[in-house]
Amino acid sequence: MTTKHILPIAIALLSTLGLQAGGNHTHEKKVAGPNGGRLLTSIEPHAEFLLLPDRKIQITFVDDHAKPIPPAEQVVIVTTGERSAPLKLVFVKTASALVSEQSVPAGKNFPVVVQIKANPESKTLVEKFTLDLSTCSGCGLAEYACTCAEGH
Ligand SMILES: [Zn+2]
Repeated sequence: MTTKHILPIAIALLSTLGLQAGGNHTHEKKVAGPNGGRLLTSIEPHAEFLLLPDRKIQITFVDDHAKPIPPAEQVVIVTTGERSAPLKLVFVKTASALVSEQSVPAGKNFPVVVQIKANPESKTLVEKFTLDLSTCSGCGLAEYACTCAEGH
């Protein structure tokens, strides 16, 4: 075998390795939650933030393949609403998710702060974003759950 033949093989090998790396559990690509909500990735397991039709918030924990898993000991507090009158939402556990006791006030564009703990003793992780309910033309999801590339 001459070097002429080795080079294409080396390139083929490299591209195979590249593909495998891309298929691993990285957070570079935005993934939709199982119900079309926003995936919160600062916590393990990840959690989906979803605004329900009755304007309650549902937090669903997911595995590495974005499949829903039942809540364990996680504690979640969401603060949202008008900046001048923020509303604190507390959550009750159902068989499949955590659902807020209170509803988000009417409106399409509220700042959201999610405080989340893996269990009552662990440290609080914070995710902040805007609960923008307009529909993204790129992915068809609400803007707060948009999975398009950054800066679209
Ligand atoms: Zn989008």
